[in-house]
Amino acid sequence: MIDGKSRTIDYLRISVTDRCNLRCVYCMPEKGVEWMPHEAVLRYEDILRLCRVFAGLGVTKYKITGGEPLVRKGLDTLISGIKAIPGAESVTITTNGVLLKEQLPALLEAGLDGVNISLDTLDPARYQELTRRDELKAVMGSLKAALGAPGLNVKINCVPTGDRSRDWLELAALAREERAAVRFIELMPLGLGRSLASCTEAEIRRLLEKEYGPMAPFVGKLGNGPCRYFTVPGFLGKIGFISAMSHQFCHQCNRVRLTAGGFLKTCLQYNEGIELSPLLKGSDRQLREAIRAAIYRKPGAHQFAAGAGAGLEGHLMNQIGG
Ligand code: SAM
Ligand code: SF4
Repeated sequence: MIDGKSRTIDYLRISVTDRCNLRCVYCMPEKGVEWMPHEAVLRYEDILRLCRVFAGLGVTKYKITGGEPLVRKGLDTLISGIKAIPGAESVTITTNGVLLKEQLPALLEAGLDGVNISLDTLDPARYQELTRRDELKAVMGSLKAALGAPGLNVKINCVPTGDRSRDWLELAALAREERAAVRFIELMPLGLGRSLASCTEAEIRRLLEKEYGPMAPFVGKLGNGPCRYFTVPGFLGKIGFISAMSHQFCHQCNRVRLTAGGFLKTCLQYNEGIELSPLLKGSDRQLREAIRAAIYRKPGAHQFAAGAGAGLEGHLMNQIGG
C-alpha cells in the first residue's frame, strides 16, 4: 500500500522472539535481560493470519528476525506457511548463524529464499568480546553450508564499531572468493547502540579501497532494501552499505515491523504504530483497516542526527528485530 508520504510499503519484518543465544554488545546487555512472557509472544497461526492481511495490503516480501529467530522451534513451518500466501515473492531470515547449519535443510525445504548472517569479525577472541559467546566455529560452519546451498541468496552483515580495520578487511575479503554480498551497516543510536563508537560508510570505503582498489557503484537491482552495492576488482561478490546515518534513506523506506508481541512498528526510531494482538479477537477486515491506518501515519523520517525527542524508541534491538 501507499503510506501518507507516498511511499510504497511492501516489506514486513517479523520478529518471532526476543530471545537470543548471543549477547552482542550493541544489542543486548550481558545480564539481567527480561524476556517477554511466552504467552505474550504471537503464535505462528496468528503471525500467518496477520501476514495474509498484510498481503492483502500489498506486502510481498517478508524477513524473519528476532532476537535470534532460530532459537524458536518450528520456524520452517512458519516459512512454508508464508510462502503459501498468494503474492509472497520472498521469505528470508536474518540470523546470527549459530544454529543455521543444523536447521538449513528444513528451512530450504520450506522454501527459504535468502539468509543474512550477522558477523562482525573472523577473529575468535574479538568474536567472544563482541558477542560474549564462543560460537564463531558454529557460525563459520553455517556460512559454509549456506554458501553451498544452490539458489539461496546469502548476505553477510557487519555493524562496524570501534576501530577494527583488520576485521573489516577480512570480512570484505569473503566477497572476493564467494558470490555472497558483504554489507556494512552503520550503527544506529538505539538501545545499547547509543553508547558505542560507530564507523561511517566513508571510513570503511576509504579503508577497503586502499587495500582492494577502487569500488564502482553496482548498477542494477539487488535486494529489497536500502543497501547500495559496489563492485570491487577481482571480487566475485559485492560490497554493500546500509547507511541510515550518513545517507539517510527514509524517503525510500518500504518497510514496517511486527514485534514478537504483536506491535506493528512503523518506524525504527519511534514508538509509532499499533498493538495488533488485542485486534486478533476481531475480524480480518478490522485488522486490515487498523493496519492500513497505522501504515498511513508512518513517520516521514528518523531524526537520530538531531538527538533526543518525544516518543523515541526505548526498546533494545533484540526486542525490535533490527
Ligand atoms: N539475531 C539476528 C541477527 O543478529 O541477525 C536477528 C536480530 S538482530 C537485532 C538484526 C540485525 O540488527 C543484526 O544484523 C544486528 O547486527 C543489527 N543490529 C543490532 N543492533 C544494532 C544497532 N544498534 N544498529 C544497527 N544494527 C544493529
Ligand atoms: Fe542476538 Fe542478533 Fe542482537 Fe546479536 S544482534 S544479540 S545475535 S539479536
